[in-house]
Amino acid sequence: MQDLTELTIKQAHEGLKNKDFTSVDLTKAYLEKIKKSDLNAYLSITEDLALEEARKADEKIKTGEFSILCGIPCAIKDAIMVEGQKCTAASKILENYVAPYDATVVKKLKEAGAVILGKGNTDEFTMGGSGENSAFGATKNPHDKTRVAGGSSSGPGAAVAANEACYALGSDTGGSIRMPSSNCGIVGLKPTYGAVSRYGLIAHASSLDQIGPMAKNVEDCKIIFEAICGKDSKDATSVDYKFEESDINLKGLKIGVPKEYFALRHGSGQVKGLDPEVEKIVKDAIKKAKEAGAEIKEISLPNAEFALACYYIIVPCEASANLARFDGIRYGLSEQDGNLLDVYLKSRGKGLGPEVKRRILIGTYALSSGYYDAYYKKAQEVRQLIKQDFAKAFEKVDLIFCPVSPVPAIKIGEKTDDPLANYLMDIYTISVNLAGLPALSLPAGKVGGLPVGLQIIGNHFQENKILSIASQMES
Ligand code: GLN
Repeated sequence: MQDLTELTIKQAHEGLKNKDFTSVDLTKAYLEKIKKSDLNAYLSITEDLALEEARKADEKIKTGEFSILCGIPCAIKDAIMVEGQKCTAASKILENYVAPYDATVVKKLKEAGAVILGKGNTDEFTMGGSGENSAFGATKNPHDKTRVAGGSSSGPGAAVAANEACYALGSDTGGSIRMPSSNCGIVGLKPTYGAVSRYGLIAHASSLDQIGPMAKNVEDCKIIFEAICGKDSKDATSVDYKFEESDINLKGLKIGVPKEYFALRHGSGQVKGLDPEVEKIVKDAIKKAKEAGAEIKEISLPNAEFALACYYIIVPCEASANLARFDGIRYGLSEQDGNLLDVYLKSRGKGLGPEVKRRILIGTYALSSGYYDAYYKKAQEVRQLIKQDFAKAFEKVDLIFCPVSPVPAIKIGEKTDDPLANYLMDIYTISVNLAGLPALSLPAGKVGGLPVGLQIIGNHFQENKILSIASQMES
């Protein structure tokens, strides 16, 4: 008997259309798999809701008119709200918080007839790159359970890779869709800033956050992206944008390779910080594109070296402002003991984890009077330079190819005591968010059984080009 959980969206849709199985069959197959799993990919399973949605989808399917996502089960990162379901952002402070409304992306999926299986694990408030900052334990990597799934969308990444969901929605502030996609060997797309509504996403750093699809292949990614993108009156940063297929071909395509990403070498010739086997996989992918007729051009992103410093000022600043609302009064955990200040201090002290506190402290400091100009304002200026570097590069090339992560999935616990070591792993992903660009992680090879992603970066609103080329690279 065929394992229904192995199917892609397209294949499952065909099966539903041909009446080979029902959405209830499909949903039950996933639920069974989730219940047996020890990956910790889900923080909650919405079994009753899922089965109800599946029954509704089956009714719709009977009429013969149904969208491609109708009846297909998915996972939603637990920082995105699903009405009536818990939304914890993997934080103790929101442990019992129930979402009062649907995020726009969830509303859109529900309208398309999607089946929501549950809420995916994440780093607390999406702060992290390994998934280990979840207050409810790290998600294990399905390829090696002693390793991280990558973060912050760790649950969605592992769930899709382990067939515990057909697809998932994640969010990406500095790599959180691409990193777990790379680590888990799936396809993840971080859309252009403004392409997808963030209404109903618990904010991390609002000038960078984007919601995007995580799927088994490029085609599925495209299907989901098409379903969720576009203007939303509830998110002022969203823009009127309609996805249109691109017929762009690898033949004649100009691919930029940033020289700075491979420049700093040790005496041995090895690139500093970049695993030589990861470098080889990325270089092989570039070679493959060249053999298919692409023109490879060296480009320069001279300010890339400041991206980490810039990101880790802007993000804590915005996070410290965004997280001020979790004060023990308005949402979630409330320690009613002493006066008002005690309530704030005790609720936040008990409810928030160390990385979240670290960012609030750094952000509050960097925004305080006397320091604002030296840190926040300076970082915003550097951000402009990084943006300009990409703008210049895209005058010469169609897409940029580079690594997602400098290393394959790390061991659980390997870097938990060293925040800086964790931040350094974001080196290839964060510039994209600072510049508001779209980028995709495509499985490109394996190092000792661990998947490694190739990052394909496009110019603003050129998801169609990225997806088209990724699909050609995939085959
Ligand atoms: N690892 C990065 C950080 O910790 C990215 C997080 C994200 O994209 N949400 O900020």
